[in-house]
Amino acid sequence: MARKFFVGGNFKMNPGSLEAKKAIVNVLNKADVDPNTEVVISPPALYLIPLVDFLRKDFSVSAQNCHEKLSGAFTGEISPTQLADAGVPWVILGHSERRTLFGENEKGEVRSIVAAKTKAALDAGLKVILCVGEKEEQREAGKTDEVVRSQLEPVFEVLKGDDAAWSKIVIAYEPVWAIGTGKVASPKDAQETHAATRKFLAERVSPAVAESTRIIYGGSVSAKNCKELSTQPDIDGFLVGGASLKPEFVDIINSKR
Ligand code: PEP
Repeated sequence: MARKFFVGGNFKMNPGSLEAKKAIVNVLNKADVDPNTEVVISPPALYLIPLVDFLRKDFSVSAQNCHEKLSGAFTGEISPTQLADAGVPWVILGHSERRTLFGENEKGEVRSIVAAKTKAALDAGLKVILCVGEKEEQREAGKTDEVVRSQLEPVFEVLKGDDAAWSKIVIAYEPVWAIGTGKVASPKDAQETHAATRKFLAERVSPAVAESTRIIYGGSVSAKNCKELSTQPDIDGFLVGGASLKPEFVDIINSKR
């Protein structure tokens, strides 16, 4: 089964106002886009509800994070069931900024916060963009595949016996050194990691899940570099930060055209 190309736009905590976000979304709403590409944009949580209404109906919105519990005394957090109730179908989990700046699994905990959140989000009916990726020193030490495996392993464990769950997950391979830096992985390097990740999925889950799961690349994707990256056989789309706030996001959506 062909994997549908997937392009996500991670707005992070940008830009300032609802009006500024609507201006960006308006460009997308009017754009002529490849109908064979699935598009998801991820504004800050406060703007999800207005943008669910404002965004064209063939695109979807995603939260940038959620809590691992469905309700309770967790001041300042948002539960996956609340996202689902608000009409938000997707959530990004395990983004490197969450892992490093907010302590999600970078301190050697045995229990994986990202895996617990993934399970909770799926249980609430959400789909998950699951981010993994190595730091520069880990790449230089030849540990890229090992790091990606160690980030995926707790998710395999928590979803053991539920292969169908993988149809609701897109894996985003985002080398940390490439995020927001202007340094992009070469198509060859990205392809190698995507292929190794797919092989790992085949071993740990099943060949069928490995074949159907989309593995997208993130890290300084732009209108200039997206076409070549998109020709790689195991790159099934992109997660885009900075360039998702610019009109060139349309060119990235249309990489395969
Ligand atoms: C991201 O934040 O997921 C990302 C890939 O950012 P950028 O495209 O700016 O590198």
